[in-house]
Amino acid sequence: MEIIAIANQKGGVGKTTTAINLSAVLAVGGRRVLLVDMDPQANATSGMGVNPELLDRTIYEVLIKGENPSGMVVPTEVENLEVLPSSKDLAGAEVELVNEYSRELRLKRALDKLRDRYDFVIVDCPPSLGLLTVNALAAAHSVLVPLQCEYFALEGLARLMHTINRIREFLNPELSVRGILLTMYDVRNNLSKEVEAEVRRHFGNLVFQTVIPRNVKLSEAPSYGKPIILYDMNCKGASSYIHFVQEFTGVIREEAG
Ligand code: ATP
Ligand code: MG
Repeated sequence: MEIIAIANQKGGVGKTTTAINLSAVLAVGGRRVLLVDMDPQANATSGMGVNPELLDRTIYEVLIKGENPSGMVVPTEVENLEVLPSSKDLAGAEVELVNEYSRELRLKRALDKLRDRYDFVIVDCPPSLGLLTVNALAAAHSVLVPLQCEYFALEGLARLMHTINRIREFLNPELSVRGILLTMYDVRNNLSKEVEAEVRRHFGNLVFQTVIPRNVKLSEAPSYGKPIILYDMNCKGASSYIHFVQEFTGVIREEAG
C-alpha cells in the first residue's frame, strides 16, 4: 500500500483536482484506491459525488477520537475507488489536536489499520502547512506537489521543501518527493513557459514531463461530482491526467535534496 500526499500550502494550485483525477485514473486501471480528504473545505469529497453534509462520521472522528477509518469509507461511482470523507468539523481539528498525545501521527495510525486493503492511498491536503498537512506528510511514503505556473511559485516551494525536510528529520525519515506536477498551464502565455523553464532548471528530473493544461472541463467536473474521465473522456484535461498517471506509475523518481 503506497501512501501519497498531495501538498502545497498555496491555495488553488490544483491539489484537489490532481488528487481526484490521479485516484480515478489509477482505479479505472484496476488499482484499489482510497482518496483521503484532509481538507475542511471537503472539495475532494464533494468532487467525487459524496455530499459531506449527509455524513455523520468523517475523518474528523478518525483524527480526534481515534476511530477506525474502515467504518467511514464510502464507495464512489468509480469501481475500486473509495473516499475517506472530510467535513467542516475538521476546521476545528487543528486546534483540538494541539494538546493531544502524538497529534502528528493520528492519520498514520489510522491508515495502518487499513494496511493491504488498497494499492494506493491518495491524501488531499488543505492549503496550509498546519497539523493536518503535517499528519498527511507523516503518514505518506511520498509527496506529490502540484505547482501552478505563475509568479512566486518557486518562493512557496522553498518553504514546502523545508517543511518536508523537517518532517523527514523528526517524524518520517522515509518521506520522498514523488515529483512536481505543473498545472493550469497556458500555452499562449509566456509566463507559463518562463516559470516552467525556471522550475525545471531548479528541480530537474523531479518535475514531471507531463504538464496539465488549463482546461475548462476540469473546472466543471467537480460540480457534477465526477472525475474528468467520467465527465468528458475526450477533453484535453482527461488525456493530460491519463498521460500523467502513465508517467507517474512508470517512472521512479529521485528524492529532493
Ligand atoms: P485549495 O488550496 O483551495 O484546496 P487546490 O490546490 O485543491 O485548492 P483545486 O481546487 O484543484 O486547487 O483547483 C482550484 C480551482 O481551479 C478549482 O476551481 C478547479 O476546478 C480549477 N482547476 C484546477 N485545475 C484546473 C485546470 N487544469 N484547468 C482549469 N481549471 C482548473
Ligand atoms: Mg483543495
